[in-house]
Parts: sequence; structure tokens; C-alpha cells
Amino acid sequence: MNKKLATSVLALGTMIGSGAMAQETFISIGTGGVTGVYYPAGGAICRLVNRDRAEHGIRCGVESTGGSIFNLNAIRSGELEFGVAQSDWQYHAFNGTSRFEEDGAFEGLRAMFSLHPEPFTVVARADSGITSFDDLEGMRVNIGNPGSGQRGTMDVVMDAMGWTTDTFSQATELPPAEQSLALCDNNVDAIVYTVGHPSGAIQEATTACDTVLVNVDNDAIRALVDDRDYYRMATIPGGMYRGTDEDVTTFGVGATFVSSDAVSEEVAYQVARAIFENLDQFTSLHPALENLDPTEMASDGLSAPLHDGAERYFREAGLID
Ligand code: GLU
Repeated sequence: MNKKLATSVLALGTMIGSGAMAQETFISIGTGGVTGVYYPAGGAICRLVNRDRAEHGIRCGVESTGGSIFNLNAIRSGELEFGVAQSDWQYHAFNGTSRFEEDGAFEGLRAMFSLHPEPFTVVARADSGITSFDDLEGMRVNIGNPGSGQRGTMDVVMDAMGWTTDTFSQATELPPAEQSLALCDNNVDAIVYTVGHPSGAIQEATTACDTVLVNVDNDAIRALVDDRDYYRMATIPGGMYRGTDEDVTTFGVGATFVSSDAVSEEVAYQVARAIFENLDQFTSLHPALENLDPTEMASDGLSAPLHDGAERYFREAGLID
């Protein structure tokens, strides 16, 4: 993927250099694994942006990546113009806290809009005997690939629980697109994914073998949620996935769409406009996007300042004062 990104940056340089197509601007959106929601959501954003290319000259491409933390770092280094990131990691990147302490605050980070809710989702093999989050002790658990939002959030949760990787009989770091198969092949007992619902990955894990979604609700989790604005308790409705008929209680974050102040006001304006002017179409492109509300999207879960271009559009559209 890095190679591909490098090529598109190069191509952009050549075009600007030659002046032949000075009107064309490339933008890349960093997403997540292909069976998650970020990837199709990024695809939906690009589809709407590219539809008006004749007017604005923006060519939008979508990249499958390691997830939130990868995307935030790639936007900071200028490898990506836009990305999807969990609201907790947007907060930490902007403030230079938690995992971002070493790199310091990413002051140029800009919020575009928020997307769907993402419950912290734990799926266990039905034959593992796991019925709650606390039962993961001593089990084979996929804690997620470094760079993903779920891995970052799992690390925070493990700290809060007083757990380390030694708490599990085995801790694996598979990316989301591989973990459902690992679960059904009986290579792990449980998987963790911070993801919108319904998602392809969880559908795969719950239909390919017998599994259950488990509650993630205990004193440590309640204390985390009480202390931090970017966490809230969340419910995954019973009946959404095979094997889980009751509502599942967990905590969650929100998916957000972010960029940086290195991206021009005009480009960010055109991206915001393409989505909000076609919101019905956008929300029909994936079931996890179904309940998005434009006013909430323009304000919820955004801890970095709004990008100037998004702000201009939201004012014009009357979504913010
Ligand atoms: N929340 C996950 C992450 O930040 C990605 C979920 C998805 O791809 O839908 O890495």
C-alpha cells in the first residue's frame, strides 16, 4: 500500500510540476480492513466526491489500512489527506495523549464530521465457555493488529482491568479481515473489534461457525466511561447476528472522518458538500450508516477543530451557527 501511496503522491507532483492537469487534485482516504465499515464508508465518500469531478477536479481514492491509529499517523506525515478514525484516537492524537504522547500533539489535525457509532465488540466461540468479558482470562484472544483502533482501545481496557498479554493463554495480533476465520478455525477463542453494526466481519464470524457476542460491562468499564467523554455505554441489538438473541451491553466510541490543515479549504469544502448534499444516498450505501443525522454529524465526537472547509459548508447549510 505504501508503494501505491508513494506513486500517487509522485503522480500529483508530476502533474503540478507539468501544469498540464493543474486542475486535478488527488485525495486518498485511509480506512480499515475490507470487511469492516470504514472501507465501504470511505468508498461511499469517494463515490459521491468523484461524481462531481467535472466541477471540482478532485479525484478521490480509498485505501484499506491498518485502521484508526495508522490513518492518523499517515495524515500527520502527509501520506494521506483524509481518514476515518475512532473518536477516542482523534482526541488523543490532537492532544498528544495516550499512545500519541511520544509524538506530541498533532495540532494540524482537523475534524470533518462524525459517522456511525462503534461498539467495542467481543465475539467468542460458543464452545469456549466465554459468556462475559471477564471470562477472557486464560483464553486465546485476538487483541488486534497494532495501528488499529480496537488494538489501541483494547490496550486501554487491559490496563484498566489490570491485565497484560500474559492474562491470556495466547494473545494474537491478527488484522480484522483475518480474525473471523481464525475464530472459526478454532485458532482463537475470542476476537475483539471496534466496529459499526452490522459489519461484514461480525456477520462472517457469526454465520461461519457457532459464536456469541458477549457483554463488556463491569466496574472497570463503567469507570472508564464515567471518566472519559469519548466513551459511552452502547448496545448491540439482539437478533442482529446469529447466535445472539439478547441485547449485548458494551461501551463504544464513534467513527469520525478527519483531515489536516495541510488540505486546502476548497477541497475539504467540496468533500463535505458532496456528502451532505447527498446524505440520503450516502446513508443507503451501508446499513451501519443508516441512522446518521446531519446535525449530529457536524458536531458529535469531534475533539479536533473543524476543518475550515467543512465549517464553511456547515455554516452555509445551517448545520452550525
Ligand atoms: N474501528 C476500527 C479501527 O479504528 C475500524 C473499524 C472498521 O474498519 O469499520 O481500526
